[in-house]
Amino acid sequence: MNIPLVYHASYSQLALPATHRFPTSKYQLLQQYLLNHNLTTPADFHSPDKIDIELIKQVHQPQYVNDFISNKLEYKVMRRIGFPWSEALLNRTLHAVNGTTLCAELAIKHGVSLHLSGGYHHAHYDYGSGFCIFNDLMIAANNMINMGKATKVLIIDCDVHQGDGTATLSSHLENIISCSFHCAKNFPSRKPHSDHDIEFDKGTNDDDFIKTLQQVVPYLIQIYQPDLILYDAGVDIHSDDDLGYLNISTGGILSRDKFIFSQAKQAEIPIAAVIGGGYSRNEDELTQRHSQLFIAANSIW
Ligand SMILES: [Zn+2]
Repeated sequence: MNIPLVYHASYSQLALPATHRFPTSKYQLLQQYLLNHNLTTPADFHSPDKIDIELIKQVHQPQYVNDFISNKLEYKVMRRIGFPWSEALLNRTLHAVNGTTLCAELAIKHGVSLHLSGGYHHAHYDYGSGFCIFNDLMIAANNMINMGKATKVLIIDCDVHQGDGTATLSSHLENIISCSFHCAKNFPSRKPHSDHDIEFDKGTNDDDFIKTLQQVVPYLIQIYQPDLILYDAGVDIHSDDDLGYLNISTGGILSRDKFIFSQAKQAEIPIAAVIGGGYSRNEDELTQRHSQLFIAANSIW
């Protein structure tokens, strides 16, 4: 089937200092790569509008939301986020956050949808960190539940970094289940409890990683019976990632994504995936790592 994808040009429209670690260009490069390699067609792309600010305020502290939008956050708060404030950052953020909500809606309609951004899992109730401002996963889950499109959402976070913002934002909620697979010795140093945290040692390889997924994911689906899965497919688990300490190959990423998709499809649960983190100065390598998600989805559906 033609898998619906979500993308907006603003994702790569952010001028940063040359030394900045955030790979701004990867979103546009990934979109081009998918088209050039016939992994999608122009007609499969859906473009999100800016999110309704009230939807962000259902998840985040209204004061924090207002202060970010009007550039009134203190310097130290912006420094923790890791970006200088700009109109482009605001524009990008409001589109990207809504992109995950749009992706969830498309997944519910078609069974699967993929977002060429998203995974802002370090965003907490009243502050952001690690390049994350508003938690798109929690906003999408909250929105789907409020609209009656889902009753129980399982967030499977396979980015190398723990989903600490998702953990704190979902801790009091019974209908949003957070599960984070991550490297024990990676950012963030303080890791609040998700509903399920699965920690990997530094240097964990493909086999051990996949074996763990095989043990945990079917169990989670069985006990929670979610009617929507949000999947953070961060590729910073790769052995050559600049910010991750695991030892996963590009083939290992493909196996991971295929396994997660096959589980969702088998259980007939809609799955919306976001590309999450991935850091490398080598843009071709990084694009190829992120493309595995799309290859995996095309092989399952
Ligand atoms: Zn990450």
